[in-house]
Amino acid sequence: MADIIDGKKIAEEIRREVKEETATLKTKHNITPGLAFILVGENPASESYIRSKEKACAEAGFYSITQRMSRDTPQAALLEKIRQFNSDPKIHGLLVQLPLPKQLNETEVIEAIDPKKDVDGFHPYNVGKLMIGEDTLKPCTPAGIQEMLIRSGNDPAGKHVVIVGRSNIVGKPVANILFQKQAGANAVVTIAHTGARDLTVYTRSADILIAAIGKPRFITGPMLREGVVVIDVGINRVADASAKNGYRIVGDVDFEAASRVAKAITPVPGGVGLMTVAMLMKNTLKAAKSLFSLN
Ligand code: NAP
Repeated sequence: MADIIDGKKIAEEIRREVKEETATLKTKHNITPGLAFILVGENPASESYIRSKEKACAEAGFYSITQRMSRDTPQAALLEKIRQFNSDPKIHGLLVQLPLPKQLNETEVIEAIDPKKDVDGFHPYNVGKLMIGEDTLKPCTPAGIQEMLIRSGNDPAGKHVVIVGRSNIVGKPVANILFQKQAGANAVVTIAHTGARDLTVYTRSADILIAAIGKPRFITGPMLREGVVVIDVGINRVADASAKNGYRIVGDVDFEAASRVAKAITPVPGGVGLMTVAMLMKNTLKAAKSLFSLN
């Protein structure tokens, strides 16, 4: 049976490190990392994400503020709020919770954030820096995947990493991180997607398989090679009459089948999902230090 790569344990480890470094930053330099959230509209999932991020900030010893804006906020008002946080010296990280209501232009919003405060790592300036291998604020979920591989003893160096999915928030950035000629990376990377004629040809050639597809239990046992390391990014709701709320969360990989062939696997829940907030804290600390030239 596969080893479980414990996202809870690794995320807690990172959050503890961030908390310790934050305490030192305060005593040595009198700096408190500050993170601002902008939440437009009343999406229940976004509300719950923001609550867990606010809680993580409090635990890390950060200053945080959440700006709630009504569902019908015009683009200009949102851009003005971003500008205010961009120039606020107490704020070192700024996150606009996505998705945005339909009338708002997401690309323009992301590009309005000061790249130095772009703790989501979505600004094209940071995406470009990541691509050319410069030090930058990496998107949280992909950076979390890299940390999980390294900290679980599955260094991607020299391995064939196959990523299923090419989204801008997971598939592409995780590829950009893992193929760099750098420590904790240096993998040979393949990105597969709906254009693949026979997906199994690719998935079965993986030493490390990263599934970021958004389809419940899509990756089955026969699609995997014996000894593969499986990172399951998927978060999918499936009906479950025995569950209190009538559903449960499963990944993009058939966990039971994959566990029988894999060397190691991330569970869902309890895997990659918990890394995202931990990496957001790490990014905010990095942004704060870098704004004071302390990196
Ligand atoms: P997305 O934007 O919907 O992208 C899905 C990707 O999967 C696309 O590139 C798509 O290919 C590919 N795909 C879909 N069906 C396929 C098939 N039959 N064969 C091959 N490729 C296929 O999704 P995302 O935003 O990357 O998210 C993926 C999953 O990760 C979701 O379950 C999401 O909830 C989860 N997620 C988790 C976290 C976290 O843990 N914190 C963060 C982000 C996302 P095409 O490009 O060809 O359409």
